[in-house]
Amino acid sequence: MTAVQKPATAAPGHHKLSAACEAAILAERAVYPHPRTALLPALKLAQAEIGWLPPPIVARVADLIGVSHPQAQELTTFYSMLHTKPHGERLVQVCAQVPCGYMGGDRLLAQLEQKLGVKAGDTTANTTADGKVTLERTVECMGACHRAPMCRIGDNYVENVRTEADVDALVSALRQGQVPTTPGTLNHDFHPQADSQPQATFQPQGTAPTKPATAYEPVLLPRQPRTTQCSLAEYRAAGGYLALQQALTTMQPDQVTDVVKQSNLRGRGGAAFSTGMKWGFVPKGPGAKYLVVNADESEPGTFKDRELMEVESHMLIEGMAIASFAIGCTEAFLYLRGEYVEAGVRMRAAIAEAKAQGLLGKGMLGTKVELEIHVFLGAGAYICGEETALLESLEGKRPMPRSRPPFPAIAGLYGRPTVVNNVETIVNVPHIVRRGAEWFKALGPNQKSAGPKIYCLAGAVNRPGNYELPLGSVTFRELIEQFGGGVSGGRKIKGVLPAGISAPIVPADKLDAKLDYEGVQAAGSMLGSASLIVVPDDVDIVRAATRMLEFFRHESCGKCTPCREGVAWLHKIMLRIEAGSGQAADLDLLLSLSSRISGKVLCALGDFATSPVTATIQHFKSEFLAALRDGRGAADDWSRRQ
Ligand code: SF4
Repeated sequence: MTAVQKPATAAPGHHKLSAACEAAILAERAVYPHPRTALLPALKLAQAEIGWLPPPIVARVADLIGVSHPQAQELTTFYSMLHTKPHGERLVQVCAQVPCGYMGGDRLLAQLEQKLGVKAGDTTANTTADGKVTLERTVECMGACHRAPMCRIGDNYVENVRTEADVDALVSALRQGQVPTTPGTLNHDFHPQADSQPQATFQPQGTAPTKPATAYEPVLLPRQPRTTQCSLAEYRAAGGYLALQQALTTMQPDQVTDVVKQSNLRGRGGAAFSTGMKWGFVPKGPGAKYLVVNADESEPGTFKDRELMEVESHMLIEGMAIASFAIGCTEAFLYLRGEYVEAGVRMRAAIAEAKAQGLLGKGMLGTKVELEIHVFLGAGAYICGEETALLESLEGKRPMPRSRPPFPAIAGLYGRPTVVNNVETIVNVPHIVRRGAEWFKALGPNQKSAGPKIYCLAGAVNRPGNYELPLGSVTFRELIEQFGGGVSGGRKIKGVLPAGISAPIVPADKLDAKLDYEGVQAAGSMLGSASLIVVPDDVDIVRAATRMLEFFRHESCGKCTPCREGVAWLHKIMLRIEAGSGQAADLDLLLSLSSRISGKVLCALGDFATSPVTATIQHFKSEFLAALRDGRGAADDWSRRQ
């Protein structure tokens, strides 16, 4: 993969698409069951050519797709990856979210500003005088938390930019019009790291969990190092696609659903709903049905689906094929977050490979079963991780969550029955079909919360990364110490965010809780997608909470007043506390405002947005009081107030 950033700013007044670009847009329109689905990809094609989306271009794209101009404009102004203003030849976006911000992201941003002579922000001062580089600070996580600090340059990730010498090399490359790259997204480092997972161990069911003993062989991420994509030949040599063959040639669709139901596989995206039950809700009989795999992995601290797609592409394809057979669909969608360009490239290549060998398309494996998989990239909107917002996005509309009922299983994509599953959920399916429900349930100490689980570990640990273990086989402390190599810099833990930034922080005295749904709940939080962010004791919790609220304020879709207005107010109050101009009543005001948002909104984002306030005040009130008294430190200093 190479950086494919086009010249950003076309000549003034040059607002015309080339014939080739228009042809590509028309070709895109023909791909999907409904032309409007092509609206977002078409806008991205136009932007790739022009550099941004001036109104005449948006109007032309609308005409080509066959929608109204306002329908195209409302997308253009919603997605953060669609640009309504021109920018420099290279757009450099530095992640400032938790944990990147305190792992060096703020420092990286300050150094880039100083060395490039620009100021990240919404003015022309964000671009170098020669127009070569525009610098942006982003609070959206980019799924690279284990390789912080990082920035995105065009479509390319540049990760582990740790030292000033790294920054100098980066600036020098940018001045020469280059983007530093090395082959393979997972290698986009200035300091390539060994990407090895220590020998995973777990305690068999029914034995004491405190001292893991039995070796566990990862099945979802079995290959090391995880830098290259597993080829079709390699995947088949290891038994890949045998589960699909077994399902298609020896099982009825209902039998596949039943075995998944019996396994107790619960959705790995965060909601933890029974996968088999979800499939069982889809009505039988004729008519279009859809499988949509949610790869809009945008929760800060989460990067497991990225690795699964980039490395284990065929496992995901096989899982999608089996799931589609079970629910009776012939057309499936893989919806990736827009930033995962490399994963999209790899998935498309793997789908083409599978098709060429008769594993997808018409007459799969010599049967009458058929399946087409579309790879669809979003354009920068966290809310697309909410399943109905994702469906709206696929339909070419603003991604705002729908009221339920009806649920997607009855009226989903294009109003048809639809199953929406997470990437990690789906990659479990081939293993369940091949090895059986009992194998799955036996993994882990609790049959209700069983099976392989990928824990993302990021923040202040020595060995951040993805760790696959049986669900619930380790505690927070064991994962951090035995797998993550302990807290970096010899520090202590202040707390752990267990589900990215969306769940209440778990303080240091609760780290012996088991990492399963029940264990994390008992510790006062939730497992969600199991994306653990370690917050060390020297990080200012007020600044961290303010940064998290900035994220939710930015990502609120605006549909519900309590979320749209309330989260903005939470953020404003936190900013003034952080600045030292808070008032004594502000903590009560924050808690009271949070209670007026949580439970009174359409989707979980509004509820999640209150966690950074309520949980941090609950556990670290003294730091808030110190912030009220003393105000903030330097802009890139995350040190705790004394
Ligand atoms: Fe949109 Fe927030 Fe309402 Fe969710 S809770 S629908 S993000 S406004």
